[in-house]
Amino acid sequence: KKVLSFGEDLGEAKQNILIIGAGLCGSLLALRLGQRGFNVSLYEMRPDIRTANISAGRSINLALSDRGIKAMKLAGIEDKVRELCIPMNGRMLHDIEGNMVMAPYSGREHEYINSISRGLLNGLLLDEAEKHDNVKIYFNKRCKSVDFEKTTALFKDYESNTEFVEDADVIIATDGAGSALRKSYFLGKKFLFSFSQDWLSHGYKELSFHPTEDGGFKTYKNALHIWGRDSFMLIALPNLDGSFTVTLFLSYEDGEYNFGNLTTEEKVIEFFQKYFKDALELMPNLIEDFFTNPTSPLGTVKCSPWHYKGNTLLMGDAAHAIVPFYGQGMNASFEDVTVFDQVLDEGHKDWETIFKTYEKKRKRDTDAIADLAIDNFHEMKGHVNNAIFREKRNLEMA
Ligand code: FAD
Repeated sequence: KKVLSFGEDLGEAKQNILIIGAGLCGSLLALRLGQRGFNVSLYEMRPDIRTANISAGRSINLALSDRGIKAMKLAGIEDKVRELCIPMNGRMLHDIEGNMVMAPYSGREHEYINSISRGLLNGLLLDEAEKHDNVKIYFNKRCKSVDFEKTTALFKDYESNTEFVEDADVIIATDGAGSALRKSYFLGKKFLFSFSQDWLSHGYKELSFHPTEDGGFKTYKNALHIWGRDSFMLIALPNLDGSFTVTLFLSYEDGEYNFGNLTTEEKVIEFFQKYFKDALELMPNLIEDFFTNPTSPLGTVKCSPWHYKGNTLLMGDAAHAIVPFYGQGMNASFEDVTVFDQVLDEGHKDWETIFKTYEKKRKRDTDAIADLAIDNFHEMKGHVNNAIFREKRNLEMA
């Protein structure tokens, strides 16, 4: 299939790209491909995140780093995104006695990561994509499967309760860790498709610190807070409204306390009092949050190839889901779009070459961050805390 894009005589031959999944990666991809002049149809299974009263899904806020910001620059929306960001200059470590130590990410003022709301960022990307007449976005349409030979996708329409098939010149799946296209590759057995999915023995649960009565922050705002306790940990990232999203990472079944045995209010309070006393004081809603919010698993997905000929391609978490301990899953998914855009600039004339070149440039890096993310789990829950507080104690004794 010949690639026709911006700058060429598009005419009737303007190409139709179908994107499955309007999360962070899919919305940015739709925006960028729209800017390049492609006809883009973006299908999302959930209602419109900007108007429906639904949680953003997965984490409520995320750490946005330079890799992600670079993609925002590419799409010309860096300033708008920065307005949604709270800079985090370092890690604020909390020991079991309630002492706090700030471990800066670097000594330089301009080096920090940003806390950003998933919902607001996703909404902004959708707003910007929709400004292009050649980008159409459809909600409440779940992709059930993809015929990657015919380049068609089967959808269930939740509004009319019917099914329909869409075809396109190419289909790109940005439908996250449970990707429908990836399942179709796997079940189709038409080519050698390698796939692995590894679960951590830890899951996560989201909790919260509410803002002060006048909308202020109850603890230091410009930091990623960490309560590392060797085999489990709590972290907190600030939100613009003065609240913090707090995440507990804990084993499903190992250790004295685990998600399997924290089944009563007394036990949950006992656990937090013992290990996170200073955090507990900031969480009057702990019990409600704990028993209302889901406990979710954490996994790593690796697969290859990401594409089938010049027809279909996996991108973002659909191609490489990782555990969140490096705060890089979204950033890597945004970087996918940056790299894909660079490959489009190389002027290849068929999609198969574009997809192959893209995967070759990208796969090694996404495999590497997947492994680093698992290593950083051990770093965050134990090593950093221990090392920093040891140093502090040594200094105090000297
Ligand atoms: P998703 O965000 O999962 O989006 C997929 C979209 O596709 C969704 O809108 C979904 O509804 C839709 N969809 C799914 N299936 C279908 C279907 N069949 N048909 C139609 N639509 C479909 N990353 C960071 O960079 N920094 C962080 O600090 C960070 N923290 C995290 C904390 C936690 C607890 C978790 C779990 C993840 C974290 N991540 C972080 C990772 C980040 O969430 C993901 O890497 C990122 O969301 C990937 O974006 P995506 O668009 O590829 O997938």
